Amino acid sequence: MLPDSEEAVAAAVDVLRVGGLVAIPTETVYGLAADASNRRAVRRVFAVKGRPADHPLIVHLGAREQLRRWAGSVPPVAERLADAFWPGPLTLVLPRATGVLDEVTGGRPTVALRVPDQPLVLRILARFGGAIAAPSANRFGRVSPTRAGHVVADLGGDVDLVLDAGPCPVGLESTIVEVADDQLRVLRPGVLTAAEIARVAGREVHEDPGGPARAPGMLASHYAPAARVVLVRAAEAVPAVEGLLAAGRSVAVLAETLPPGLPEGTVALEPVGDATGYARHLYDRLREADRLGVDVVVAVVPAPTGAGVAVLDRLRRAAGPTAGG
Ligand code: AMP
Ligand code: MG
Repeated sequence: MLPDSEEAVAAAVDVLRVGGLVAIPTETVYGLAADASNRRAVRRVFAVKGRPADHPLIVHLGAREQLRRWAGSVPPVAERLADAFWPGPLTLVLPRATGVLDEVTGGRPTVALRVPDQPLVLRILARFGGAIAAPSANRFGRVSPTRAGHVVADLGGDVDLVLDAGPCPVGLESTIVEVADDQLRVLRPGVLTAAEIARVAGREVHEDPGGPARAPGMLASHYAPAARVVLVRAAEAVPAVEGLLAAGRSVAVLAETLPPGLPEGTVALEPVGDATGYARHLYDRLREADRLGVDVVVAVVPAPTGAGVAVLDRLRRAAGPTAGG
């Protein structure tokens, strides 16, 4: 594990050039990065994650100007969104350029692209010159990593190099927007909201992802800790916890501010403050619950506005019908 330094940049570029895998910090979550033009390296990402081949990867570019090298066509609205939000937590799904590997796109005619807002990664991309394909650096279906220690705990020796730039400031995966025939559709919500995107685009943004076929990898169960996750409104938290404790379960509570009157014996996870804090700390708190070995996490849902929309999306998947996947 290397801290942010010139040595880390050089070591990461060396690993990428020989087709190795580097765990990188981004502003959203830690990613498992491979040279996006190296078929063998990209295949190894899927093998290490245990990820199905039809779940495409996001290609991370070092600069907005590389967009045209990876996208076959770039409608003006996509240019506008890239200008406004890159570097940043917005992924654009566009028709792919010829030569983009099927391994990266899952054989689709489209490719997902973004420029991450993380200084260490931007230095690596500038020195490397190419692009990196990177999904979240966790085993498939589990909680995404927001600290280098999470990556080591999940993937350990399967990664050639882990870089550590501290906790990720955003904490949830990027907003994915499909740009098709000038129509905009959110395939995955993130802290950058549909309303902010619509304002810059000057047009409607559809928020219904349109089923799993359109957004591969968006499973009903995902981001799941070992503990069961139960979603409640603030007023329901105390009775829910009482019921679970009475049934002999160990219970942790996750909330923006802790509901008053929690019964003795409840594990109070450090409150996240507000919706932005919920996004930043959600995965770390879920991992903390697993570390403490609790049976159930009772999560008080945020208001469904701003960053709360994406938090709610991930909480619902964490609470999904079956753990893992
Ligand atoms: P992850 O890297 O784990 O955050 O997942 C990346 C996600 O990006 C995938 O699960 C897909 O939902 C999405 N994605 C990547 N490429 C495409 C594409 N060409 N079309 C639609 N969605 C995509
Ligand atoms: Mg992921």
